[in-house]
Amino acid sequence: MVKSFWSKAVVIIGFIGLMSLIMVMSIKSFNAELDTISLVQWVACASCGHYYMEQLGNRPAKCKECGEEALWPAMRCADCNVMVSINLRKYNPEGREPYCITCGSGKLVKITEEGSQKPPPP
Ligand SMILES: [Zn+2]
Ligand SMILES: [Zn+2]
Repeated sequence: MVKSFWSKAVVIIGFIGLMSLIMVMSIKSFNAELDTISLVQWVACASCGHYYMEQLGNRPAKCKECGEEALWPAMRCADCNVMVSINLRKYNPEGREPYCITCGSGKLVKITEEGSQKPPPP
C-alpha cells in the first residue's frame, strides 16, 4: 500500500517535472525566435564593402567575407543608392554624422525590404 502510494507520487512528480520542462523549453525557443527577428539587420563591411543580413553582436563584428573586424550596421545613401557601413571608428574622430563615402551625402536612410530587392550597383 505504502509502496504503491510512493510509486504513484513519483509518476505524478515526474509528469509535472516533464510538463514544466516542456513549457520552459517552448518559452525559450519562442524568445530565441523573437531575438532573431529583432536583431537581424543589414550590415556592411568597411574593409571589403560586402553587405548582407546578419545578427550583429559586437561592433565592429567579423566580416564573413574577408575576415576583417570591420562589420558595422549598414544604411543606404538616398542620393546614390549605395550601402554605407556606419563605421563609427571612422566618423567619430571626424566629429561629424555618418555620411556616404561615395558621394558625401548625409542623407542616409534605413534599408527597407523594398530597398533590399533592388540592390545598389557594386
Ligand atoms: Zn569584409
Ligand atoms: Zn551617396
